[in-house]
This record gives sequence, structure tokens and C-alpha cells, in this order.
Amino acid sequence: MLSLGTPLDRVVGARTAKAMAEQLGLRTVRDLLRHYPARYARRGEMTKLTDLQVGDRVTVLGQVRTSSTRAMKQKRGTITEITVGDGAGSMRLVFFNHKHAHLAVGAWGLFAGTVSMWNGQLQFSHPDCQVLDEATDADRWATAMLPIYPASKNVSSWVVQKALRLVFETREQLTELLTDDPLPAELRARYGLIDQDRAIWDKHHPETDEDVVRADERLKWDEALVLQVTLAARRRAAALEPGIARPRRGGALADAVDAALPFELTDGQREVGEALAAEIGREQPMHRLLQGEVGSGKTVVALRAMAQVVDAGGQAALLAPTEVLAAQHARGIAALLGPLGRAGELDGDPAGTRVTLLTGSLKAAARRTARAAVADGSAGIVVGTHALLSEGVDFADLGLVVVDEQHRFGVEQRDALRAKGQRAPHVLVMTATPIPRTVAMTVYGDLETLTLRQLPAGRGGVSSSVVPVREKPAWLGRAWERVREEVAAGRQAYVVCPRIGEEPDAAADLEGPDGEDGAPPEDGDEKRPPLAVLDVARELRAGPLAGLRVEVLHGRMSAEDKEARMRAFAAREVDVLVATTVVEVGVDVPNATVMVVMDADRFGVSQLHQLRGRVARGKHPGLCLLVSEAPTSSSTGTRLAQVAATTDGFELARLDLQTRREGDVLGAAQSGSRTTVRLLSLLEDEELIATARVEAAAILEADLGVAAHPELAAAVAELNADRADWLERA
Ligand code: ADP
Ligand code: MG
Repeated sequence: MLSLGTPLDRVVGARTAKAMAEQLGLRTVRDLLRHYPARYARRGEMTKLTDLQVGDRVTVLGQVRTSSTRAMKQKRGTITEITVGDGAGSMRLVFFNHKHAHLAVGAWGLFAGTVSMWNGQLQFSHPDCQVLDEATDADRWATAMLPIYPASKNVSSWVVQKALRLVFETREQLTELLTDDPLPAELRARYGLIDQDRAIWDKHHPETDEDVVRADERLKWDEALVLQVTLAARRRAAALEPGIARPRRGGALADAVDAALPFELTDGQREVGEALAAEIGREQPMHRLLQGEVGSGKTVVALRAMAQVVDAGGQAALLAPTEVLAAQHARGIAALLGPLGRAGELDGDPAGTRVTLLTGSLKAAARRTARAAVADGSAGIVVGTHALLSEGVDFADLGLVVVDEQHRFGVEQRDALRAKGQRAPHVLVMTATPIPRTVAMTVYGDLETLTLRQLPAGRGGVSSSVVPVREKPAWLGRAWERVREEVAAGRQAYVVCPRIGEEPDAAADLEGPDGEDGAPPEDGDEKRPPLAVLDVARELRAGPLAGLRVEVLHGRMSAEDKEARMRAFAAREVDVLVATTVVEVGVDVPNATVMVVMDADRFGVSQLHQLRGRVARGKHPGLCLLVSEAPTSSSTGTRLAQVAATTDGFELARLDLQTRREGDVLGAAQSGSRTTVRLLSLLEDEELIATARVEAAAILEADLGVAAHPELAAAVAELNADRADWLERA
């Protein structure tokens, strides 16, 4: 007897089960039932080829139109080219030493592969094929909607379909499996939702579009409610958990910081500061997300909060995404505090504290000293990278954690913090990437948001342009001239490249916090490797920027070298810094006014926005040039144009959400999304997510809480188990 929990190796063979688990995350019958089709194919509606992008893994339904085989010129063997199409378009398939004799002209089939580009035309190289058998399938698929499942290299859409058929053939069999409906009947009735078995049946076997719409409506509710009940439960638990109140009192450090600031705080900084000060002064631990446009001055806000905590006897940790940024923060804070940041040293002020930098690259001895200062509490302000917390550093009395520029400091990381056995510290997460409301309600489900809208007065502003080098090669020359002009006027420039270069293993040094940039080219793809810092710097020194002081900065340099290079740039000893995304976030050199991003199409929208935030941080206006070979009319070209056209971070965050897959945003870790969030769209289901949030709160507030709904409670427990799983692996 099958049940929802039956492992898939008891349904399909061990090999298929292994591939399903590893490549698609499907382990049980329940996972398989919730592996919904990505779309439905119908004859005459071949996937819109214009929507496909290089690198997409897709399955298309089409008819073989032409087929020809010839010997290869350079190598032994044959190459077969097949065109498939249906009314709407056509696509080229190539096979080397092809054995698909059954792909006769006129045959219909499903073709699955990774889209690549060849001679300006989309193609599949070596797709998997499933010829549809006219005799048995013809009737069914001639009119029906053929489900196309998300597939992987070894698990094609039709393998998924066969596995599903082994689980259930009839509606009755499915109903028997699905005994527990997580949605309370009352809710189902109130929102007019169909039953669970009907919805899942229709997802896999729809007859009409309407079937799919109604099934989606219902199944999205499941996802939204389970997620929101989980988050609401966490919020309640967090609210009950005691922290330590660190009220603001006129203290040495807090007053010293305010007195030392070389500028007036903006109204926004002042208001946000007051809100934070009040919350840190309460026993209930603060959980705040501070959203502030690039350059809005978040660091100072954080520093003032940290000073308050130190004055109240606690320690504050500031976590940055990169070592470069951590070092910059430590340097800036130490400079601002002066003797007050050197308590215990000869010239230090005993009323102050110590600012300690603790990063992975410190030499063993320095590291030991730093760790000791953190453990005995003499270091009141500890600056490090995000890894600081996971590395098991002991704090004497951690009162506040500030996480800088971390878009993904979610629920799990805070759990890890609490697991350290201390009273929960106050937490402030800062990001320049505005979080759309739905994401704030899900990924950051229990963070309350504060926003810093205003930029400090007197900023010059950035203007951006795309430099389409294929179409307008002369513009690149003009870009370098602009760099020269700025340097001549006493300013400085960044040139950013996706790769470091000059390495034995080209794929090994792609940089970027999310590893999302510069994916290595696909087989059979003509794309050249992304531009490299070392190559570009050499070419610039020899050519367009000859005579200027051009230096490089990248992740393969030692921490000291990086630090020295950054200092030299800040001290204006370098005119042009050619760097990888190590300069992506937070780096603050107000005299830098130009940023040239090479192969800009290799970067995500948020990354580009962040990078652009490195210039025009002072009174001089800035210029950002996005250099790309992508045709202006391509979707990539359009995306770059959109980035150039707006500096509204909120607009760009939405764009980012559209271009990245939503799964990436949620991340398997953040939501336990393997089985939880499949259909729910953060862009489109804002209203549903908000409604589910209200219903979730109502359920928890009622007498028995979630225990009144055992099926829902089970689904919530399952989500939490997923999460625990992830925590153990992390
Ligand atoms: P972000 O919010 O991007 O982290 P920073 O905190 O790095 O921004 O601040 C950007 C720059 O603005 C820094 O050089 C900082 O010293 C400066 N700054 C911060 N607040 C103000 C202010 N109120 N007036 C003028 N300059 C400010
Ligand atoms: Mg910053």
C-alpha cells in the first residue's frame, strides 16, 4: 500500500529514485504529487520560442520537419540536424553520432534540453526525445493538455509522468492517498476553494485551462497558509523570548559618536535612530530590517545603535558580506571613535571600548588575540564577515547583531544565533536592496521593516548608460575618454569585470556572493568566457588608459593586499581600480565618480544597482557605464536598459524578482520550499499572501491554536522538519 510518505524507490527503480532525489529533490510520494507541471503543451501551441533564453532547460512539443545527417569536417563522426516545429515556430536540434533513427520527418515528439545559441539561432544540442506514439497517444494528446514537468538531465518530463501513473491511475486512487486536507473546511467554504484531491488531480490531468486555474487557486492557498502559520508561530515564540534591555543613556560612546560625526544627521537617520534606540531599550529582542537606498547612510545609524549597546554594558557585532567591507567598516569606526575606540591601549580612553576586526584571514596570533578580546568582553564592537557567527566565536555578552548588506539573513540564521545559548541579542539587518512587500512577508516573515528614504543632501546623483559594444563599438572608446576626463579632474574610477583571469581552471574563480554571475558556457555554445580583471587591466594600461595609475583588486589577493589596495585607492594613490564584485557592496570612496561595468549582462539586476552605488557618494555627480555585447533588442539588452533608466531601488527589486527565478529568491533554505512553495508567486500573489497572513494569525489566536486543525498542524510540522534538515546540513 502506498501512502504519502512512501519513499520513491518503492515506486520507481532505485536509479530513477536516486536521480529524482538528487536532481529534483523528490523523495516521497508526497513530493511527487506536488511536483506540478511547469506548463501544458498542446498541438499548435509550441512553446513561444521568443521566450526562451540561452541556458534555459525546457521541454517542447513539436513535429519533425526536416532531418539531415552529414560527416563532421574537423572530427570523426556525423552530425545530424533536425528541425522541429509546429504552427508557431521552429527550432534546431543537433546530434553528434546520432542514433535517433525513429525521428522521422512527420513524427511528433517531446524534446528536452538546454537552450544554446548557434549562428544566432536557438538550438538544443543533444536533447532527450520522446516520440509520441500516434497509435496509442494520438487521440489523447491531439486535443488534450499534455503536462510538461520540470525535468532534469536524467529525469525527463515523461519519466515523471510514468512515475505518477504508478502512483495513481484513477481519481479514486488519488483520493485514497490524500486523506488529510490541510485547509480547514471552514476556510475552504468561505473562499470557495475546491477539495485537495480534485485540485491535485486537475493539476496533473486538466481538461481545460479553467481546471488549472481553479486547482492553482486552491493549492496556492495551502502553500500560503502553511507558510504564514509557521511564520506567525515563530513571531509569537520570538515575542515571548526574553532578551536584555539596553536602554540609551547618556554614555561615553553614544555621545562621542554624535559629537564626532562630520555631518548633520538627516531627518530619516534621526527618526530611524530613535525607533531603534527605543526597541533596543526593551527586553523583547528587536528584529528589524533597515531598508535604505544605496548611500543613504545606514552605517552611521548602525554605529549609533551599537554605541548605545556598548554603553549599556553589552557587545555589538557588525557583520559584512566581504572582508574588504568588514575592514572598511572597522577602519571607519575606529577613525570616528579615535581614542574612545582604543580603550586598554596606551593612547586609548579608558571610558571607551575596543573595536576589533575578526575575519578568517587574520594570522593565527592576531586571531587569537582578537578572539580573546571578544570572549572577555573588552572588545565592545566586533566587526567581521557573515561567517563570524557560524564559526563559533564566543562573545562575553552579545547584545546587538547588525548584519550589513545581507539580503538573505533569514529565519534560519537567527535560529543559529539563538542556539548559541545566550539570551537572544537584538538584531538589525540592513540592506540597500528594497524588499518587495511579499518577500518581506515570507522570506523575512517575522522581520519588521524600517525605511531610510532620504539621501544626505548635496549628492551629485548618478547617470547611467548602456554601451552596446557590438552595435556601437566607438562608444567604448568614448567611455575610456570619459574615465580620463574624470581622472584629469581629480576623480577616480572603478572598472568591474565578472572574472579574475589567468588561472588554470577557468570556472574556479568566478566571483560574486551568490555565484550567479558568469556561468561557464554551455557545451556547443559559442559564448566566450567573461572578461577578466587581469586581462582588462593589462589592456587598459597598454592602451586606452596608458599613463594612469591602474591597479587591480580581486578575491585571489591576500587579505592584507586587498586591504592595502583599498587604502591606496581611498588615499587617491590609484586612479582606476579594476576589480571583481569584491567592490559590489558597501565600499565607500566618495571621490570615485565613474564606474564601468564590463560584460554587464553577466550581473544580476541587484548587483548592478549595488555596484552603481559605489560612485557619486560625495558631492560630485557620478556616471555608470554598462558595457555589454548583448543586442539592445534582446531581453538582456532590455534589462540593462531598465537598470540604466531608473535608480529607484524598489523598481529594480521587482525587476530582479522577475529575472531571477523565484525559487532562487526564496531559496530552498529560506522556506523549506522543496515541498512548500511551488506555485505561490511572490510577484503575483501579494493579495493572497496578505490574506493568508491574516487567517494564520486568526487561527493561532483562537482557543486551541493550530492544534484545532490537526491536518494543518501536520503540514506545518512537515515544513519545520524540512527546515531542521537544512539547518543540520548548513
Ligand atoms: P549605505 O547606506 O549605502 O551603507 P553609508 O553608510 O556607507 O551608506 O554612507 C554613505 C556615505 O554618506 C558615507 O560616506 C557617509 O559618511 C556619508 N553620510 C552618511 N550620513 C550622512 C549625512 N547625514 N550627511 C552627509 N553624509 C552622510
Ligand atoms: Mg553600507
